[in-house]
Amino acid sequence: MSIIFADAWLITMNGKREVLESASVCVEKDRIVAVSTRKDLEKRFPAAEVVDCNGRIVMPGMVNTHTHLFQTLMKGLGDDMVLKKWFTCMTGPSGVHLTPEDAHAAALHGCVESIRSGVTTLVDFMYVHTRPGMIKAVVEAYDETGMRGFVCRGFISLGEEYGVPRELIEKPEHAIGDARKQMRRYNKPGARIQVGVAPNMIWAVDEKGYRLTRKLADEEHALITTHLAETTFELETAKTRYGQTDTEFMSEIGFLGPDVLAAHCVHCKPHDIRILKQHDTKVAHNPCSNLYLASGCPPIPEMLMAGVTVGLASDGPASSNNHSLFQAMKFAALMQKGFHQDATILTAEKVMEMATIDGARAVGLEKEIGSIEVGKKADLIVIDFNNAFMTPIHHPVSAIVYSALGNEVTTVMIDGRFVMRDGVVTGVNEAAVRRQAQSHADDLARRSGSDKFKKRPWRSMAI
Ligand SMILES: [Zn+2]
Repeated sequence: MSIIFADAWLITMNGKREVLESASVCVEKDRIVAVSTRKDLEKRFPAAEVVDCNGRIVMPGMVNTHTHLFQTLMKGLGDDMVLKKWFTCMTGPSGVHLTPEDAHAAALHGCVESIRSGVTTLVDFMYVHTRPGMIKAVVEAYDETGMRGFVCRGFISLGEEYGVPRELIEKPEHAIGDARKQMRRYNKPGARIQVGVAPNMIWAVDEKGYRLTRKLADEEHALITTHLAETTFELETAKTRYGQTDTEFMSEIGFLGPDVLAAHCVHCKPHDIRILKQHDTKVAHNPCSNLYLASGCPPIPEMLMAGVTVGLASDGPASSNNHSLFQAMKFAALMQKGFHQDATILTAEKVMEMATIDGARAVGLEKEIGSIEVGKKADLIVIDFNNAFMTPIHHPVSAIVYSALGNEVTTVMIDGRFVMRDGVVTGVNEAAVRRQAQSHADDLARRSGSDKFKKRPWRSMAI
C-alpha cells in the first residue's frame, strides 16, 4: 500500500533544508520512497492513495526529548510554587500514590496530546516504581496510540534528607536489574519502542547508581537520560558532595557519552559545555518548564556555538502543563531573545531544527527520522494553515513557530501508519481516554492529598 501526500508546502529538514512549494511525498509501508511532483508520483505509483495536501504544510513529526508522562494527571496542581515545594508537597506524594493503572491512563492521554500537536517520538522518563508494571503501562500506551519512542526506566537512590518520599527511593542494583529485565523484554533491533535507563539527578542518585547505569547502557546499547544542572540546588549539592559541578563529576566517573541525553543544563558553565561537547553528550531543552519552575535561562546559544546537539522538550506536564512542542519552539526562541536582548540569537529555523532533526540526533535516530527524505521512516505531520492564527501567511516556518497554536495539525503518520487522520485519532477512542485520564487524575489527587491545590484561594500576589 502506497500513499502520496500531494501538493503540499513541504518543509523537508533535509541537509539543504529545502522548503518546497507544491511538492509531494510518497510513502510505502513504513518508509518514505519518493519526493517529487504529484504528476510524477502518480505516474510512478499508480495504485497509491492520494491525500490532497493543497493548502497544507507537510513537515517531519517532532521529537519530544524529555517528559514524564505520568505527570499528565497533575496539570495545574503545582502552579506558582518554588521547585522544592512543588516536588515535596505535590509531585513527590502524587508519585507515591501512583498505580500502574494511573500511569497507563496518563500515558495514553499524554500520547494523544502529543499526536494532536505533531509529536511522533517521545522520550519518557519514568522514575516512579512503587509498584511493579510502570514501564509496561507506558509501553502499552505507546503501542496502542502508535507512538514512537523511548520509555526510560528512571530511579532515585537517595534524597530523603531533601524531601524525597522514602517510597520512591530504590537500591541502584535493584533499579538497574529491573531496567535490564525490561530492556531484554522490549528492545528488539529497529523496534519502534525502546526501553532506556534514567538515573534521576545528582542529589537523588549516588555514585554507584551512575556507574551501574553506564555499565548497563554499554552492555545493552540502550539510551541513557538524566537531569543535569537544572537548578542551583543541584550545583550546590554537587559542590558539597564531590567538590565539582555535576557535569564534571559525571565526566570524571566515565558516565557521560554520546548515548547520554541530559535534560535541562540550565546552570552549565563554559567548562561544563566543553565537557558535554567532548563526550558528544546531547541536551534536551525544556524552555516552558525552566520558566514555569523559575529554574533559569539555559545557555543554549553557547551550547550551539560549541557544537552540542540540543533537542527540544516539554518536560512533564506538572511543570509545563502540556505536551506542546509548538509552545516549546516559541518559548525557546523568545526566552533567549529577551534574556540576551538580541533578536538574532536564536532563529525560528533553528528551533524547528531542534524540534525535528536535532531531536532525532539527540536520541540517536537521525538516520531514521527527523526529516522527510527518501529511505527514512514515514513519520510526518500535516498542518492546515487556513485558520485565523496562521494567516495571512508569508513563511511556513515563521507561521509554525510564532503564529500557530498547535491544534492546526490535522494528520499524523508514524512508521507509515496514520495515528491521526483528518483530526481523528485512530488508535484509541480519544473521548474515552480523556474521561479516563480525568477520573484517574481526580482520584490520584484525592489519594495523595494534592486535591487541596484544586481549591486554592485566589492569589493576585505571591504567598
Ligand atoms: Zn524532568
